[in-house]
Amino acid sequence: MKTLTRVFNFSSGPAVLPLPVLEKAQKDLLSLPGVGMSILEVSHRSKVFEDILEETEATIRDLAGIPENYRVLFLQGGASLQFSMVPMNLLANGATADYLVTGVWATKAAEEARKIGNVHVAATTKAEQFSRIPRVEEIVLTPGAAYVHMTSNNTIYGTEWKDLPDIGDLLLVSDTSSDMFSRPIDVQRHALIYAGAQKNLGPAGVTLVIIREDLLARSPASLPAMLSYAVHAENRSRYNTPPVFAIYLMGMVVKWIQSQGGLAPMAKANEDKAARLYAEIDRSGFYRGTAQRDSRSMMNVTFRLPSEDLEKEFVQKAAEAGLDGLKGHRSVGGIRASIYNAFPESGIDALTAFMREFERRRG
Ligand code: PMP
Repeated sequence: MKTLTRVFNFSSGPAVLPLPVLEKAQKDLLSLPGVGMSILEVSHRSKVFEDILEETEATIRDLAGIPENYRVLFLQGGASLQFSMVPMNLLANGATADYLVTGVWATKAAEEARKIGNVHVAATTKAEQFSRIPRVEEIVLTPGAAYVHMTSNNTIYGTEWKDLPDIGDLLLVSDTSSDMFSRPIDVQRHALIYAGAQKNLGPAGVTLVIIREDLLARSPASLPAMLSYAVHAENRSRYNTPPVFAIYLMGMVVKWIQSQGGLAPMAKANEDKAARLYAEIDRSGFYRGTAQRDSRSMMNVTFRLPSEDLEKEFVQKAAEAGLDGLKGHRSVGGIRASIYNAFPESGIDALTAFMREFERRRG
């Protein structure tokens, strides 16, 4: 039998998935145990899928301690559609929404909201190339704002909010696409949380939305059905055909997180992995981290080398050594190592060893 070859996948998303999840999906692909059909072939109205949906939601509720007055939705259109759905549902005529602009995705979220209503940039670190999270005193909120939108982890710049901003009684909406379930999350402090699955939660094709139930009353009846949280909630994410396979896989990923002990142990493992990588970056002057220290992300570790030529060579040689996907986002360049929940510690060993060797030869 040919042995399985898997590289270390540092991609920002779609990204590495837990191997036991892939193995189980492969094993069950032709015939789900007790069902006799592939998950790719079952009806979204079948009891089989009903059970999968229920179990996935129950696991998610358990992991994050989601209170009863929140609904869990499985939607499509990626996190990008949420950039539009959030204001379409929650930003009433004449009201203003506050945006904490900490990177490319936060900027896009604000741009989409501007097409729907008034947007106020409550804080931005653009002048510092989004190298840090805004400080408390820099945040200027609009009294009576419809909501405050934040991006908990900035995938491209490698920064994350260490604590939720204090916004008083206002509603907090958070794009958690690149750090969902990488650490404990205080759901009760949020009005709405959304996350595209393809980093920490599963494959591309499904977007997790957690919304406080009373907010469903705000969805205007005039909204197209597919854009209305109220419609999706009322139909328990089956107003139309949901992404059955992606939800099935997400169900297995969240169970895998549970089997690792849940979110607190996950955070500890992620902190350890990131700390080892940052220590290597800080060890000599050859590598330079781009995020300011107090804002460093545990998920996306961004750094530069002394020249763009060296960065190009680094990415190429790393790929040859089985370290894939280290090129930074096209808008910022440099190196980005995305080390989500499922990224193994042995991959950190491999990258730090490679970094030392590269520095020895080129430094
Ligand atoms: N928000 C964040 C924080 C992201 O990292 C991304 C994708 N990388 C998006 C939004 C956009 O997600 P999607 O491609 O699922 O629309």
